[in-house]
Amino acid sequence: MINKISHLGIAVKDLKTASEMYRKLFQTEPSEMEHIEEQKVNVVKFTIGQSTIELLEGTSEDSPICRFIEKKGEGIHHIAYESDNINIELNRLENDGFELINNKPLTGSDNMLIAFVKPKSIGGVLTEICQH
Ligand code: ZN
Repeated sequence: MINKISHLGIAVKDLKTASEMYRKLFQTEPSEMEHIEEQKVNVVKFTIGQSTIELLEGTSEDSPICRFIEKKGEGIHHIAYESDNINIELNRLENDGFELINNKPLTGSDNMLIAFVKPKSIGGVLTEICQH
């Protein structure tokens, strides 16, 4: 079952610059930077109350984040929904006709299990399902 919005992912060109800007906006410190090799990204998170914003910087030209910025510029990259059982969720979505990018969960930041659903099957929104 999908329980809540986990976070919003924002694609940025420069994580340091973006972190400074969001630090000013939220008046709070971000998490330690995490490098996720599998997805070729550096990530920091800001927690504001119950909400989390994830800033994503690509670490090589062929990373999905760099390709996204090349096409669309910086901005909101994905919305993530939290599930209590990602494997059941992915099966359900696939059976209901959603097209998955990842059939099996990957390891994301904070050791979360994550998988993406193709934007074209959810009204143009890149959607992440995650589980803590
Ligand atoms: Zn995410």
